[in-house]
Amino acid sequence: MTAFPDLRLKRARLDTYGRPDVPELVDRYGRVARDLRISVTDRCNLRCQYCMPEEGQEFLPTPEVLTDDEIIRLMRIAVDELRIEEIRFTGGEPLMRKSLEKLVAAARGMTAWTGAPLDLSLTTNGLGLKHRARGLAEAGLNRVNVSMDTVSPQAYAALTRRNRLKDAQAGAAAAAEAGMTPVKLNALVMPGVNENGVCDLLQYALEHHYELRFIEFMPLGPRGTWKRSQMVTREDILRIVEQHFELTHRPGPERGASPAEEWDVLPGTNHPGGRFGIVASVSRPFCGECDRTRLTADGQLRSCLFAREETDLRALLRGGASDTEIADTWRAAMWGKQAGHGIDDPGFLSPARPMSAIGG
Ligand code: SAM
Ligand code: SF4
Repeated sequence: MTAFPDLRLKRARLDTYGRPDVPELVDRYGRVARDLRISVTDRCNLRCQYCMPEEGQEFLPTPEVLTDDEIIRLMRIAVDELRIEEIRFTGGEPLMRKSLEKLVAAARGMTAWTGAPLDLSLTTNGLGLKHRARGLAEAGLNRVNVSMDTVSPQAYAALTRRNRLKDAQAGAAAAAEAGMTPVKLNALVMPGVNENGVCDLLQYALEHHYELRFIEFMPLGPRGTWKRSQMVTREDILRIVEQHFELTHRPGPERGASPAEEWDVLPGTNHPGGRFGIVASVSRPFCGECDRTRLTADGQLRSCLFAREETDLRALLRGGASDTEIADTWRAAMWGKQAGHGIDDPGFLSPARPMSAIGG
């Protein structure tokens, strides 16, 4: 990771924080954030083992959650003042927010500083997407990632603690039908739970022309559920997949800010071939190329999934701050972004909030 790789930043003046005096969200290591992830709710209709406890999860009281107008104002500041080019809506389960279509439409009305339309995407468990995919596409959503860890109804019910695989599958199909292609599937592999179903899931994804993304399990779920020694790693997944599919590694620049490393799957006798990826956040961290900034449902700004500090933008919004003050606070917070997640550091501590409350 080099400091200020961008020539425009090298030439820039320094502002009062000692950061280059540029509109962008730049940090001390020269990374520039162009991708905003917004958690629109911390609530969810599943209870995935790796994300939430079976019972007792506390949710934000409604008055603490940002209103539509507050989210729209923050999106506008991010796009107009801070040069954000992509917005991904997430949660909790973002479809549990009834006004999601309104938020997407508002973002679609904004134009990036480059003059291009914003890239708008959604990460969802897919439940209920069957009924909303068309409306979301019409509102301007470009792409969808549907989380589906397995195609075994039993393993799905064990992992998510709900018997809803068919609904998730119907959601992915509706997204494709609405033209939000390629639909991506996110899959987390847990040892002894869905490890044996990895090839069936890839087969299903290829048959439906979905792009499967395996994601390494990160220490962001309920306390005590993550042990590095028990993690199913990129190498483990590749070893399993290579036994049944013929693969060719897609050379860079795919990794860049997009964290998935990708492989082409050659057509076989019972599938058309296609592509899949692995997001190896733990065994091959990509923090050096991270271009993300995150907002929680209660308006807390996080520069990293694993950050232990948050910056309270909701207090500024509700305290009458100007757009310029909010943008300056956002820039100052990003300037302090840590170099990496530090999962391998002896002193590593998981963030106080679980993934569902931060927004994946
Ligand atoms: N509810 C939506 C969903 O499941 O797609 C959006 C929010 S969820 C937190 C976003 C993504 O985070 C999902 O793909 C999920 O698999 C992933 N995720 C949740 N807990 C995780 C963990 N501990 N490690 C890695 N990924 C995790
Ligand atoms: Fe809900 Fe998504 Fe977390 Fe599963 S991963 S419990 S669907 S927020």
